[in-house]
Amino acid sequence: MKILVINAGSSSLKYQLIDMDTKAVLAKGLCERITLEGSKLNHTPAGGEKVVIESPMPSHAEAIKLVIDALVDKNHGVIESMSEIGAVGHRVVHGGESFSESVVITDEVKKAIEGCIELAPLHNPANLIGIEACEKVMPGVPQVGVFDTAFHQTMPEEAYLYGIPYEYYEKYKIRRYGFHGTSHNYVSGKAAELLGKDIKDVNIITCHLGNGSSVAAVKGGKVIDTTMGLTPLAGILMGTRSGDIDPAIVTFLMEKENLGINEINAVLNKKSGVLGVSGVSSDFRDLSQAAEEGNKRADAALKMFSYGIKKYIGSYAAAMGGVDAIVFTAGVGENDCATRADIVDGLEFLGVKIDADKNSLRGQAIDVSAEGATVRTLVIPTDEEMMIAIETERLTK
Ligand code: ADP
Repeated sequence: MKILVINAGSSSLKYQLIDMDTKAVLAKGLCERITLEGSKLNHTPAGGEKVVIESPMPSHAEAIKLVIDALVDKNHGVIESMSEIGAVGHRVVHGGESFSESVVITDEVKKAIEGCIELAPLHNPANLIGIEACEKVMPGVPQVGVFDTAFHQTMPEEAYLYGIPYEYYEKYKIRRYGFHGTSHNYVSGKAAELLGKDIKDVNIITCHLGNGSSVAAVKGGKVIDTTMGLTPLAGILMGTRSGDIDPAIVTFLMEKENLGINEINAVLNKKSGVLGVSGVSSDFRDLSQAAEEGNKRADAALKMFSYGIKKYIGSYAAAMGGVDAIVFTAGVGENDCATRADIVDGLEFLGVKIDADKNSLRGQAIDVSAEGATVRTLVIPTDEEMMIAIETERLTK
């Protein structure tokens, strides 16, 4: 079965065509500037050169049509006809409390996704547009929604409620939801495989560290806590997002700097994090270089990042009553061995110990623990598209 995985944004659309029999990615690409001037499609068939197709995309439906044309093209295509696509899997950011699992898309499901727009005003409308565009261009092909929040729906009340009047939870559904669920789900499953254990028997702390970062406590395959909250702004320090701060800072800054709601949101989402602290960059490669050259703020930002994650690892080990493995994934987690070493430095009391040589390897699922470690430290490349494809196949086969 071949599955088309779609991640639709407001003016962009990423896709991958995956053959589930071989687990091979047949082609992948990105539509840029949908509904805008100068839109183009970047399409890369497996083993081939990237092709750039410049063409107007007045809507997401047009973009999907171009994707299908590219997939069946004589020169750079990878399938004979659209009928080879057995199902489409969509990334949907927010499923609120309505979805604790992936689902086959129906009119009712679309209404429920619409009902979560208030919780993810930038993402859910675009995800819905992507679904409707596929319905239009590929009628009759089953579609599945895979939610960033779903894997976290197993959290108990004490982890997801906030210490504010309960009526706000009832009225506005203000609670911790958590994000990157598809990634935490994928890497915790892979971790259990790598440990040679049943996921039901292991406690895993998954650290998804990219531009946006989150940590999750996965006990027996179920999330019991995670760092992101009502929105992806909460938790650990990120590239440009503040993560957890004293909530009183918000009103303090609004008053002192005369900021409106949009402005304070921009400060916390786009100008904070390691970028805001360092004044250098949100990219960890730039930060390490600046710190090496003696930039104190870059050094402080890197230390804050690692320290914050270390604290969550300690608290999640306590919350789960012990931990069997710590998993690092995403751009920083997979590639930045110095940051990984900093995070676990001092966790020897838990039984965590890494091997410097193994920790310097990249690009593969690997156990980087040193001899004698009783808690394994694993690096596992995440693959959210593959997870979406696996879920889509499971629900439609
Ligand atoms: P996103 O959250 O956008 O999916 P990624 O998971 O792709 O982000 O992570 C992107 C981040 O990964 C970059 O900002 C960069 O800081 C970091 N990164 C990528 N490669 C390296 C590397 N070799 N060393 C350190 N950091 C890296």
